[in-house]
Amino acid sequence: MTNSGDTYDVAIAGAGPAGTSAAIHLATQGARVLLVEQKRFPRAKLCGEFISPECLRHFERLRVADQMISAGGATLTQTVFYSRKGRSVNVPSEWFGANERALGLSRSEMDQKLLERAKSAGALVLEDTHASELLLDNGSVRGLRLKCGSEIRDQHALVTIDATGRTRALARKLHNRRKPEPGGRYRLVAFKAHLENAQVAEGACEIYSYPGGYGGLSSVEGGVSNFCFIAAAKDVRRCGSDPEAVIRESVFRNPRAAYTLAHAHACSEWLSVSLESFGRRKLVPAEGLLTIGDAAAFIDPFSGSGMLIALESGELAAQTITNQLERLRRSASFAPLAREYRLEYGKKFDLRLRVCSLLRRAAFVPSLAEAAILFFGISTRLRRKVARTTRPSRKLETPPPGMC
Ligand SMILES: Cc1cc2nc3c(=O)[nH]c(=O)nc-3n(C[C@H](O)[C@H](O)[C@H](O)COP(=O)(O)OP(=O)(O)OC[C@H]3O[C@@H](n4cnc5c(N)ncnc54)[C@H](O)[C@@H]3O)c2cc1C
Repeated sequence: MTNSGDTYDVAIAGAGPAGTSAAIHLATQGARVLLVEQKRFPRAKLCGEFISPECLRHFERLRVADQMISAGGATLTQTVFYSRKGRSVNVPSEWFGANERALGLSRSEMDQKLLERAKSAGALVLEDTHASELLLDNGSVRGLRLKCGSEIRDQHALVTIDATGRTRALARKLHNRRKPEPGGRYRLVAFKAHLENAQVAEGACEIYSYPGGYGGLSSVEGGVSNFCFIAAAKDVRRCGSDPEAVIRESVFRNPRAAYTLAHAHACSEWLSVSLESFGRRKLVPAEGLLTIGDAAAFIDPFSGSGMLIALESGELAAQTITNQLERLRRSASFAPLAREYRLEYGKKFDLRLRVCSLLRRAAFVPSLAEAAILFFGISTRLRRKVARTTRPSRKLETPPPGMC
């Protein structure tokens, strides 16, 4: 094992949108940042690949907007929810700001562009590197143990960030919590692939509700569509874990999905993942450790705002650390940083997480989903109001002073 002499200001594990957002903001503010990612990019990732309109404002702040827009993704002007009985309601993208458009772009492209930007902003980026342990000193986190092939090294940092996504690979270590066995307490399984020949309406992200789950179909770059869907684990087991059998048995119970997917076929590998739970987790699991993105809170995917919250929480953590960095460099207490992060996080996200949790409950019960689509179909004003509640308030969206 080697022990690097360098101490970074911030060590971040995970280079999804949360980790790269934090790394870019911190590095442009002059912090010494280490970003480690277990995979080599570009890599495919299970996701609906619906990049909500507000993300484009974050891309501008991160100085990657031009690259994202010129990557050949699809412009998505509305999200349309289809019930099992064939009813539909739409949510125009422009409700989230004048002239706003969502983007359909693969995670492979999006994450790669953010990672390249983190490098050019000055972060040291290590791919193919697994953050395998937290370095602990009397219960306080002082950095990461990194594993790259057979090489293991310890890397110290004033602040460590868990941006490892839903697995919360670092925070989980503190409580000695093992991942549940596959099929154990998981009740939902998600699948995704890129499809050819899907009949999705141009400019739409279509969401289909069916017993036990829902799925989202929208165009991405390269003339293909991304189909990502969630099904009950018991239905998946009944279909021998074959995603195409689950589509035939469950998804096709939604007539719109049966039409748009009738002649579609996968042109990429199917990815799958088990879903454990939704909602808030610990933001500061130990002194010296913050969580961001899905590691801090996993919002229901149909809200289409997981990546937005990842970008925002990365920015918020960066801002909080930047505010406290000089103090931390003088070995001052971590407590004020922890307090500020918890407070600001609550202000930004708590209401949104609560509303999405209520909508999620409706989405999984076909009769409630049917009633919700009928109800929201009656009043555009109400629909707009609820849709806005799942997104940042305009007041809170202003970039913090000094941030890029
Ligand atoms: C079925 C489904 C559909 C979704 N659809 C959408 C959608 O359409 N739009 C939307 O906005 N959101 C969607 N989301 C949510 C979105 O994918 C997440 O909110 C977002 O990816 C969170 O970003 P993150 O950076 O926190 O984590 P992630 O994107 O999960 O990134 C975590 C990174 O950490 C790395 N990592 C993990 N462990 C380690 C380790 N020990 N060491 C080093 N690296 C590690 C991983 O390889 C990964 O690259 C969906 C989610 C699901 C499950």
